[in-house]
Amino acid sequence: MNYSRVTREVIEKLKEILGEGGVRIDRDYLERYSKDETAELEPLEPEVVVFPKTPEEISKILKLANEMKIPVTPRGAGTGLSGGAVPAHGGILMSFERMNRILEFDPENMVVVVEPGVITDEIQKLAEQHGLYYAGDPASSESSSIGGNVAENAGGTRVLKYGPTGYHVLGVEVVTPTGEIVNFGGKMVKNVMGYDMIRLLVGSEGTLGIITKIILRLIPKPKYLATLLVPFKSVDEAILSVPKVLSEAGTLPSSIEFMDKKSVQMAYKFLNESIPNMEADAHLIIEIESADKESLSKAYFNLGDSLMKMGAIEVYVADNRHQRMKIWKFRKAIPEGIIAFRPVHCMEDVSVPIREIPKIVKSSDDIAERHGIETLSFGHVGDGNVHVVFLKPIEMDESTWKKALDEALVDLYKLTKELGGTMTGEHGVGLKRKKYLKIFMNDEEMEFMMKIKKALDPNLILNPGKIFPERDKS
Ligand SMILES: Cc1cc2nc3c(=O)[nH]c(=O)nc-3n(C[C@H](O)[C@H](O)[C@H](O)COP(=O)(O)OP(=O)(O)OC[C@H]3O[C@@H](n4cnc5c(N)ncnc54)[C@H](O)[C@@H]3O)c2cc1C
Repeated sequence: MNYSRVTREVIEKLKEILGEGGVRIDRDYLERYSKDETAELEPLEPEVVVFPKTPEEISKILKLANEMKIPVTPRGAGTGLSGGAVPAHGGILMSFERMNRILEFDPENMVVVVEPGVITDEIQKLAEQHGLYYAGDPASSESSSIGGNVAENAGGTRVLKYGPTGYHVLGVEVVTPTGEIVNFGGKMVKNVMGYDMIRLLVGSEGTLGIITKIILRLIPKPKYLATLLVPFKSVDEAILSVPKVLSEAGTLPSSIEFMDKKSVQMAYKFLNESIPNMEADAHLIIEIESADKESLSKAYFNLGDSLMKMGAIEVYVADNRHQRMKIWKFRKAIPEGIIAFRPVHCMEDVSVPIREIPKIVKSSDDIAERHGIETLSFGHVGDGNVHVVFLKPIEMDESTWKKALDEALVDLYKLTKELGGTMTGEHGVGLKRKKYLKIFMNDEEMEFMMKIKKALDPNLILNPGKIFPERDKS
């Protein structure tokens, strides 16, 4: 696809729609919006950055972009880990930073209505202040936007019990790639009126429409919670205990997270705070919830006993908010530690049926060794999602690293496919993984998705260069 450049005339038209302050072409803006948090991608600059405040403004911009054949890349907070918000073909970068209002908090219907630029943590806090709970919880909740969470169908630490972001979305307002404003869903829980458009739009990575309003479901806040920190002598024992915890706990934990020794060290370096048994080969974090204190302590005593039988070195129970938050702060610091201390890395996101997790974690070490690179693993093992991170050895040169990484990724993906898994459980395909989509999908499957894309976005102006490898050829 040949796109047009953003000319002086286009800039003037954008200013007519948004006013002077809503359109930026300054160098520092173009640089700032040229990347997200995906370590291995080169920055790609937009030609202009725009800050709409209403769906009507967005509609006008998309109509202009179609008329002029200019690409538009939506961007939330830019914390993405697959290059989804990177403007692959230049053009217009559309940021939702100024669409950051909570439009309505409606506790009687157990919903909150928000604009896409609201930071996720703000929604969590608002709900909790009213005894309610927004269950979406990506580790980036303090910095990512809800629009980005919906567009990526973000996961995180509570997916095991509550599902990914999409499970909490009851309704959306969307500006289509051709500029129409449409609404699907509402404040009701059940809705089978026609196709399930919310499912289609959630996780569409900004390629099928621009989400301008989201109706999120809230649930009662869990009354009592306990977070167990469980060190193990070996990765094997930790990982093998996960299916047993799931079947024997007697209650579905909201989280089962895994951290290997190197991940623990990353968080330690980042925070300068330690956790017990730092020298253990692996730790699990298990969170359980209950309606009353007695059944909570019964559940964690039972679980503790089983974990000790499964090889745990010790079971530490945090049942007050301060201690629990300390554990979660430590866990959430792992990706930040990696970004800070090993900037040349590749964070993967494979997801497999839970019984296959031990194979993925063990094999990632073998794969890294075979290609002469380093690795560490952490992630949401309770739901089968493991973040295998490949790291460039300090002494390795860039071109050797790139080749070794590519081969390691192909090995990891082929194994994941063999185990019945998927290339990405929560971070998306974006720019980063599109080259490897063919390992997982045949031509017919890709064409099925591409037909939807072409029907909704005939000029392919919305977030081009993402998900589909073939679009590069068009
Ligand atoms: C330290 C750290 C921890 C993380 N932990 C997790 C985790 O636990 N779980 C997880 O799933 N992810 C995690 N991530 C990845 C990232 O935070 C999520 O993918 C998040 O959902 C991205 O939100 P964002 O607002 O930053 O979106 P961006 O990165 O700005 O955009 C992401 C995608 O959404 C599209 N988009 C954004 N807004 C809209 C909109 N309004 N309409 C249409 N498309 C839109 C963009 O085009 C892009 O394709 C983590 C990232 C970091 C840096």
